Amino acid sequence: MGKKMRRFFDKNQRSILLWISGGYCSNCRARLDKGFHADHVFAYTHGGKTITNNGQALCVICNLKKGSK
Ligand SMILES: [Zn+2]
Repeated sequence: MGKKMRRFFDKNQRSILLWISGGYCSNCRARLDKGFHADHVFAYTHGGKTITNNGQALCVICNLKKGSK
């Protein structure tokens, strides 16, 4: 086993995800502010990695909706 994968995207990864998204929520296309959530496309709890290839920028509302499912 390698070192344990971090649970959260760091500041650098967040800025990459924001750049990829063009500044809009990947789900509802709402304009994102600085408080956007960096979300795992494939859930961390199911083995999804904390890498930008497995990340997307979501607005707070979409991320909370997703979390409640
Ligand atoms: Zn959204």
